[in-house]
Amino acid sequence: VELTTDILVIGAGGAGLTASLSALQEGNKVVLLEKMSFAGGASSMAGAGTTATGSKWQIESGYEDSPEMLKADMLANGHNYNDEATLDIFVNTVGAAFDWLVDPEGANVEYDNSEPGRTYSGVGRGAGVVKTLLQRVEDAGGDVYLNTAGTELIIENGKVVGAKAESKDKIYTINAKAVILATGGFGANDELVPAEYQEFVYAGAAGATGDAIEMTKAVDADLINMEFVNVQPNSIVMPSGLGQYCNPGVGGAYATSGAFLVNENGVRFANEQGKAYDLIQAMKQNKTNYLILDQASFDAFNKGMIGSAIYTEENVKEWLENNGSSNPVMVKGETLEDLAKTLNLPEGSLTAAAEKYNADVAAGTDEFGRKLTVEISNDGPYYAVQMWLRYYATLGGLHINDQMQVLNTKQEAVDGLFAAGEVVGGLEGDIYYGGSLFGWAMTSGRNAGVSASSMIK
Ligand code: ADP
Repeated sequence: VELTTDILVIGAGGAGLTASLSALQEGNKVVLLEKMSFAGGASSMAGAGTTATGSKWQIESGYEDSPEMLKADMLANGHNYNDEATLDIFVNTVGAAFDWLVDPEGANVEYDNSEPGRTYSGVGRGAGVVKTLLQRVEDAGGDVYLNTAGTELIIENGKVVGAKAESKDKIYTINAKAVILATGGFGANDELVPAEYQEFVYAGAAGATGDAIEMTKAVDADLINMEFVNVQPNSIVMPSGLGQYCNPGVGGAYATSGAFLVNENGVRFANEQGKAYDLIQAMKQNKTNYLILDQASFDAFNKGMIGSAIYTEENVKEWLENNGSSNPVMVKGETLEDLAKTLNLPEGSLTAAAEKYNADVAAGTDEFGRKLTVEISNDGPYYAVQMWLRYYATLGGLHINDQMQVLNTKQEAVDGLFAAGEVVGGLEGDIYYGGSLFGWAMTSGRNAGVSASSMIK
């Protein structure tokens, strides 16, 4: 099948949808390809907290923020591994993109502005935002092809003039004046994820296979920050392999009563309530990580968790009944010694850890700098929840210029080729900054749509 369009967008996540919508609004014909049977990718799994620095809403609310402040915070958060040029695009254009996102004449996406701040939340989380965007793209006349994967760029005299694509029973040649790559990250591709992360649980989108990384070899694309993958501490993994981030549960447990992490030696090793980055580095050193809880903190943990998609009362019951498993989600013991035995931790280690912990509570703090106020109970039962590091977003990818054009390894813009969203590398440095993943999808998508439109005129 041969198609001809103005702008071809590959990947229908947050970035691909905003790119398509803005290109349509600039008066172009748009073909949008999505390899999965549904649009949304990682964006539809996201919480949709979205950076709004410099937006009208933020300015009207009086909240103090600026591109310079956002940049400084993201550089510090990302340990200066950020690509500054990409970061500059983000901090300087995110406000305008956010205005467009909530404008009825723009994307018309519903956001909650009841609490002023640096970020606002999309109503219905990522899934809600994606649904609105897809509807808007269709209403504006975009041609959306689901179950259709972009496979190869068509290049003539060094210029990208379209792409080949495949569905189950068709092969497409799509001619276009510009191609926007919005294929998301590469977390689901073991050949691209650095080995050190592969022992962690992958909890991202299935379609994040880094296809654009492969496709752009043909234009000698420059790749940056490919060694960085975003990791979260405090996750459980179910026997099915699905992972769930446990921060609501963990926070409640630490606030309620004694709860602490131990390693495979039954020894505490970090400030459990410290910065995520520091906790990740500490958890990485261990073979296993267990959260040890008394009854009150276990109840608080469940209160924070039950109701989240894969954590129900039935799950908890089932997991506890599986107490003898060699790789348990959670176990229960009448005493700390029972628990240590089931988990194969050294005899006496948990009792010693609890005694030390309670002595630290009396002192108000411990050697890791955690403030301690509530003892772990001297009476059982006790629980252990196995805690994992999990990864989802990838932070490396294509190197772009301020027009969202893909750069080759000579740092020259590739004619006709643009990129947006998670496929772009370098924004975050080595760990992501809250709200900026979704904010970047929206901002970079819109920028790429506008930029590609102006260049093909
Ligand atoms: P972002 O919004 O940052 O681009 P997402 O993960 O939300 O990231 O969106 C990327 C989308 O691209 C996903 O829906 C994914 O299934 C899709 N995708 C990945 N590879 C291809 C491909 N080769 N062809 C078409 N769609 C693709």
